[in-house]
Amino acid sequence: MKRAETRAVKAGSVTIGGGAPVVVQSMAATKTQNVEATIDQVRMIHEAGAGLVRVAVDSRKDVECLGQVREAVPEANFVVDLQESYRLVTQVAPHVDKVRYNPGHLYHHEKDKPVQEKVAFIAETAGAHDCAIRVGVNCGSVDPAMDEKFEGADEPGLEGVTAMVESALEHAQMLDDIGFTRYVVSMKDSDPRKVIAGNKRFAEARPEIPLHLGVTEAGMPPEGVIKTRIAFEQLLSQGVGDTIRVSLTLPFAEKWREVEAGKSILDDIEAGRFRSVPEFLDGGLNIISCPSCSRVENEAFIELAQDVKEMTTYAKEHDITIAVMGCRVNGPGETDDADLGLWCAPTFVNLKRGEEELGAYPYDEVLGRLKVELDALIAEKAGA
Ligand code: SF4
Repeated sequence: MKRAETRAVKAGSVTIGGGAPVVVQSMAATKTQNVEATIDQVRMIHEAGAGLVRVAVDSRKDVECLGQVREAVPEANFVVDLQESYRLVTQVAPHVDKVRYNPGHLYHHEKDKPVQEKVAFIAETAGAHDCAIRVGVNCGSVDPAMDEKFEGADEPGLEGVTAMVESALEHAQMLDDIGFTRYVVSMKDSDPRKVIAGNKRFAEARPEIPLHLGVTEAGMPPEGVIKTRIAFEQLLSQGVGDTIRVSLTLPFAEKWREVEAGKSILDDIEAGRFRSVPEFLDGGLNIISCPSCSRVENEAFIELAQDVKEMTTYAKEHDITIAVMGCRVNGPGETDDADLGLWCAPTFVNLKRGEEELGAYPYDEVLGRLKVELDALIAEKAGA
């Protein structure tokens, strides 16, 4: 998978950025004071393949329990969110590999103390305990001063993105100014479009800083996975993103499914299986096919996707995107951004060029018709 050249940030035994494989994270949903259940949960998430596991800490008692959980599962890498109490870092840092703070929460306590001092306190403490930091900005809880400053700065549908990105940039600068570089940044929202816009903008401004991707309150599978997948496809396909979390509403015993969903999204992107059509920046021919799901009505779709790939190799120098989708429910919409789109029905395959539908063809004829359209497109582009 193509990756931006970010700096390497070590958190326990994993490295985020610096060309390392994308790290999948998840969070224990149990109450930390229920130590046995939390140990089981952390172990389950770790064994599912999570490089980092977040545990909730809201009180002094939780801190004690965190220590016990860590001792029981030393092989896992731990993260804690400081929530509204930045001073909590002194208690949790000895037990974890990474702490997360939300810039929008540093204003609640000790209002007269400059934010820079609070950030320096977190960084010094994290550094002393060999911890990394995540600057975790949420579109819904951005620093109010930033919200006010950038009100009206965004186009409709992307409200709040500028404030979110500027807040992340400001905190990155604060950490840089004190010489602390062992940090990653996240900018999350429940709307995948805002996640895409915010992360792209930040990556352009600070390409060296590793990014943690996530869509908040994504909901239950399969919708929650689809929403997250769309954001990750658009970012990871362009090399943006070094660690991911898929946040799903799941029964506690099934929390491992967050990790599984993250891993399968990464595998699909690597293999060119996309649910949405990413904006390809590399040039050349791009063949994408959907990851397939229970909506596929004819398994011949899988073979067709492979045949399209083989048949079109002769066009590999041309900047053309062909999308092959498995069903009639999402196929028509999901192919809109491709130059040529195919979507499958039980006995025929629909074909379109851009948004124009060309017709439906039997499985054994559609490839020939696709070639005609592809040749015409190449000839058009050459003459343009
Ligand atoms: S295009 Fe259809 S078959 Fe493919 S993943 Fe989406 S819903 Fe499933």
